[in-house]
Amino acid sequence: MKKIKKQSIPELLEKWQKEFAVFVPSKASGVSQMEVWDGQDTAFLNRNRNTAVPPKEKFLPGMEKMFGFRKEEGSYVVEPTDGEPPKQLLFGIHPCDARAIGIIDMVFKDAYDDKYYLSRRENTVLVGMACTSPYDSCFCTSLGFGPADAMDVDIMLIDIGDAFLIEEVTEKGRGILAGAKGVIEATEKDEKEAAAARESANAKVSRKIDTAEISRRLPLVFNDREFWEEVSAKCVSCGICTFLCPTCYCFDINDEMLQDGSGARYRNWDCCSFAIYTRMPAENPREEKWRRVRQKVYHKYLFYPELFNVIACTGCGRCIRQCPVNWDITQTLSNLPAGSPGKAEEKKKAS
Ligand code: SF4
Ligand code: SF4
Repeated sequence: MKKIKKQSIPELLEKWQKEFAVFVPSKASGVSQMEVWDGQDTAFLNRNRNTAVPPKEKFLPGMEKMFGFRKEEGSYVVEPTDGEPPKQLLFGIHPCDARAIGIIDMVFKDAYDDKYYLSRRENTVLVGMACTSPYDSCFCTSLGFGPADAMDVDIMLIDIGDAFLIEEVTEKGRGILAGAKGVIEATEKDEKEAAAARESANAKVSRKIDTAEISRRLPLVFNDREFWEEVSAKCVSCGICTFLCPTCYCFDINDEMLQDGSGARYRNWDCCSFAIYTRMPAENPREEKWRRVRQKVYHKYLFYPELFNVIACTGCGRCIRQCPVNWDITQTLSNLPAGSPGKAEEKKKAS
């Protein structure tokens, strides 16, 4: 294992800036999000919590131009957007958000071949930073990993006081560290400190859910209208929980056209909390709010696992922290009616 003193990080970022657009967790714009490093700010070295806006927007922007078009001789000519996006390095991404990118990959990379997403994804290096002070709304340890785990990153840094212990996870990560000034061999004491930091971070995640029990109960309560009406009552369908969720990826596509017939196709984040989300010419299957809240929970905790064998929630807690009416997904999941095991067995046999 290697380590680097915190005071050497700016020099390392400057080196990386020659090759990448380097993003760090920042509050410079008034919102906590990943922003281009200004060469000065180092507050993020001691900010061991995730940002309010998840880093998914570096792969799936809130709005992006897919291509332009213009009318020519009774037809339309497509004008592609400019080539490859610049190489980017996200410094200080937290394990839950890196896991979320791994989860979104299953749709945009594995199930489909989304060139817009992939061009950014393949041009990105993820330098993770372990959480050492998780929020009380975090529950990542119930989702199969912990606040200092190195899944889905290229390098993981663990805070050991005035330095970070470095875990080189991928070849890409090893490559960008090669020859970097200030990177030295870690001592046995450093490794022990990192192990203690990891253990302490895990212990600080006190909020828990029982995913096995949730998987058992969800198939039984789909038609329990009373329960879903009750749990969705206070939701105001603002969409904050899905826009800020690192694993939500729904989008809409719009063509914007000028009078001269030229225009562009855009894709924007969309949200299953909105009543118009599923509006169709003949009907809207989720006109009532309780159906939309139910959909959000089922998509993450039942449908996604059925498709990709993973729960599409990382326990980052943003939907709990940012909801204006304190709707809490862990409360809903923990209060699912117990149902009847017999019915679950019948459903399994029938499918
Ligand atoms: S943030 Fe809260 S109020 Fe807004 S849609 Fe989500 S659960 Fe409903
Ligand atoms: S559902 Fe909530 S806790 Fe889970 S990943 Fe999304 S924002 Fe985070």
